[in-house]
Amino acid sequence: MSFLATRLGRIKPSPTIATATKARELKAAGRDVIGLGTGEPDFATPDHIIEAAYQAMKRGETKYTAPAGTPELRKAICAAFKRNNGLDYKPEQITVGCGGKQTIYNALMATVNPGDEVIIPAPYWVSYPDMVMLAEGTPVIVDCPKRSGFRLKAEDLERAITPRTKWLILNSPSNPSGATYTRADLRTVADVLLRHPHVWVLSDDMYEKIVYDNFAFSTIAEVEPRLYERTLTLNGASKAYCMTGWRVGWAAGPTDIIKAINDIQSQSTSHTSSISQAAAVAALNGPQDFISKHNAIFRERRDLVVSMLNQAKGLSCATPEGAFYVYPSCEGVIGKKTPDGKEIETDGDFMTYLLDAVGVAAVQGAAFGLSPYFRISYATATELLKDACARIQRACTALS
Ligand code: PLP
Repeated sequence: MSFLATRLGRIKPSPTIATATKARELKAAGRDVIGLGTGEPDFATPDHIIEAAYQAMKRGETKYTAPAGTPELRKAICAAFKRNNGLDYKPEQITVGCGGKQTIYNALMATVNPGDEVIIPAPYWVSYPDMVMLAEGTPVIVDCPKRSGFRLKAEDLERAITPRTKWLILNSPSNPSGATYTRADLRTVADVLLRHPHVWVLSDDMYEKIVYDNFAFSTIAEVEPRLYERTLTLNGASKAYCMTGWRVGWAAGPTDIIKAINDIQSQSTSHTSSISQAAAVAALNGPQDFISKHNAIFRERRDLVVSMLNQAKGLSCATPEGAFYVYPSCEGVIGKKTPDGKEIETDGDFMTYLLDAVGVAAVQGAAFGLSPYFRISYATATELLKDACARIQRACTALS
């Protein structure tokens, strides 16, 4: 019998982290590899945020905080929800965790019983199904292919709901597709949910600030106030404020569920770093103008990558309105042969070929629950992206 807990059998290590690690290792070993697997901005944390962390340390804010987060941070989060989304939350409706990731984990641990179902539209962020399974729940995956704009359709949601459904996880802008839900899209989802009062929504708004072409971001609790009492709205400092390593994420919802999440938190990490929390206060309350500057750079890169990938034989790439990912279809290369005679049967085979033949590391669609696609993160230097896309074009041309 294995010494390891049986729950380990339900999960796999994060495939996106695995791809990034593999690219780093190959580079360290001297291979010419461009890693497009990482889901984090390549910009530095703005100086005023770093300065706020330093000042907090100097003031002695280096002690334990409440598991829910410091009063200052929760107040700043409430103000941000009001400013950005028109949502009214009180500080006791806010929980702060070690990144959005731990906040989602805590929420699922606090609410999911064995056999409870969680509806996850695919392609999905890699961690949702594994977290549900760690909580002994059952992920119910609903395919949302390119032809539906990678968005959940009302009739598919309706079909997926059963008496065991506990949560629907919505993520807009999406990792990995970059797809977004307009107000009208959210309206159709909300109309289904209103008919099923036992289903809660986890709205993962982590990429709220990273949108293009004047896309107007909306979140479901704001679009349909009758869902406010069964919505957990999630956000964080990682992406918009270039603070992935600081580990600050948060969620807002009804007080009793927030209290349950805080109880889980109090028995695991206690809270995220007091210093990171002070930095997040500065991020939320300070100047926001750098975000649009970053977005302008991201948008240029998006357009470059989409255009170059659409010129690659066998690939077809939609132009997403948000996040910093594209999710091209590689249906046109499936069944083809590589120069050394191997058949490409899956998107995973295609990723292996790209890495071996041209030194480009990206992540196969299978990791996000929808094939045959792959994910490219364009949060990387423009010159590297150009080089990587030219390599992908060459690799596609070499297939027969
Ligand atoms: N949600 C989505 C959709 C993400 O892509 C990520 C990170 O990649 C997270 C949540 C968690 O972010 P973090 O834990 O870094 O705050």
